[in-house]
Amino acid sequence: MDSGERSAALFERARRVIPGGVNSPVRAFGAVGGTPFFVAAARGAEVESVDGRVYLDFVGSWGPLILGHAHPEVVAAVREAVGRGSTFGAPCQGEVEMAEAVVAAYPGLEQVRFVSSGTEAVMSAIRLARGFTGRDLVVKFAGCYHGHADHLLVAAGSGLVTLGNPSSAGVPEAFAALTRVLPLDDEAAVEELFAREGERVAAVILEPIPANNGLLVQRPEFLATLRRLTREAGALLIFDEVISGFRVGRGGAAALYGITPDLATFGKIVGGGLPVGAFGGRREILERLAPLGDVYQAGTLSGNPVAMAAGLATLRILERDDVWATLEQRGAELERALAPRLAAAPIPASLVRVGSLFWLSLQAGAPPRTAARIEPRAAGIYAALFHALLAEGIAMAPSAYEVGFLSAAHRTADVERLAAALGRALARLLREGGA
Ligand SMILES: *Cc1c(COP(=O)(O)O)cnc(C)c1O
Repeated sequence: MDSGERSAALFERARRVIPGGVNSPVRAFGAVGGTPFFVAAARGAEVESVDGRVYLDFVGSWGPLILGHAHPEVVAAVREAVGRGSTFGAPCQGEVEMAEAVVAAYPGLEQVRFVSSGTEAVMSAIRLARGFTGRDLVVKFAGCYHGHADHLLVAAGSGLVTLGNPSSAGVPEAFAALTRVLPLDDEAAVEELFAREGERVAAVILEPIPANNGLLVQRPEFLATLRRLTREAGALLIFDEVISGFRVGRGGAAALYGITPDLATFGKIVGGGLPVGAFGGRREILERLAPLGDVYQAGTLSGNPVAMAAGLATLRILERDDVWATLEQRGAELERALAPRLAAAPIPASLVRVGSLFWLSLQAGAPPRTAARIEPRAAGIYAALFHALLAEGIAMAPSAYEVGFLSAAHRTADVERLAAALGRALARLLREGGA
């Protein structure tokens, strides 16, 4: 369906002066087809396009908006902060309060440093891990996304253990050669790698709840194996909690699984909708950073007072209202409302959910735990579902591989509306021969 005349005109103008018309690729609707709608304003669970169409939103700006759009208390905190100046280039109280809040919330965290994006947090954590261990190799997993830093823009090639191949032009093979890519859900592959070159590994990094390539929920035993092997080899375990941090609970996936990493990275929610990333861990490791130590890391806008105010307001509301309990309830309601519709669907479909993160697995059998097990045909089916929902005023992520996000602004009626619309869209697949 077309997104409206004003959006189309803006997209046309945008494409002349911005590559692909967007500042982040997935926004361009390339995976689902059609023209993206341009947003004029958003409030609570809804976004309104420049064409005056209102969508019930399950993207939540890709994760940060756990309280919904323009939460009044967050907006007030931002207004108040910006009135006192938008950046100082000198320390401010908000940074201290934010650091105290993050350290108090996350298992094993003694110190934290703030940056301006998740990518920057991961990039800095990797450098710190290499500086701390004096080693070069980084192990990542196929299907885990860690932002667009060079060393991690690497996907698996063939074979059980491969040298990394860059998944972007512009990433030197020499960088990629320092990255090992393994499949998720496979203890034996990790054991084998550590047996062969464990003493060269600086860090193993993963999303403990992989949520950037479907929702590939891992077995706790797999995470426990990573914890054991890294500890035995003197390598660091890094949990990239940019999505899961403050999303699945106050202590992120670490608290959920009872596994404490050496370093953790944050982003999205921690900034309350403003650009913030963070990385933290034990004091002994973090104190290797400049100005105390020999690992350099810096940022003109790091610990920005306005962003700190938005993050702090968000974290305080999450704690005060135990928002995570409400979100779990809302997620369970979505699951219940969807169950009969998925059972009646003309194609195999199941809901994968961890708290307020959800994803439709459009294939038979148990939901996949590895990227390789995702049925490629699902992407085409998803595109049809996406447009059917959009036509009903419901915005899901414009890609089959992205998860859905519930926020505190979603009501029971909202998840029931999503379930009903999905049921209709799935049923229509058969009539139109789409499946
Ligand atoms: C979004 C994301 C990043 C990158 O964060 P940006 O703020 O987009 O740079 C890194 N890791 C994970 C797990 C993410 O979901």
